[in-house]
Amino acid sequence: MSTTADLFAWDDGVLVRRKVTQCALSRVCGGCGASLGRPIAFVGAAAEVARNEFHAPPLHATCADDVRRRLDPGWDVVLTSGFEYVRPAADDLDKEPRFRPNSLIG
Ligand SMILES: [Zn+2]
Repeated sequence: MSTTADLFAWDDGVLVRRKVTQCALSRVCGGCGASLGRPIAFVGAAAEVARNEFHAPPLHATCADDVRRRLDPGWDVVLTSGFEYVRPAADDLDKEPRFRPNSLIG
């Protein structure tokens, strides 16, 4: 069994754009696919934390731990009560959609 087979927004450890969009618009967890409550967790590398923009979709806090453990234990976790979904502009150097937490907790 693949270790990432049952992560909603990932396929073999790679983000699936269609699923990421679904997480953003339907507000479901990228780990388990169920509805999000609060807090919402994001996982990412230090550079993403510093920029406050994340490519991985929103997660339940418990699912965030699971995702880190399976995909990259080096990732940090931030908790927020809300986020903006940012679609890349035509001249944007970063061509991937991303999430910007807007009410960080802690
Ligand atoms: Zn979840």
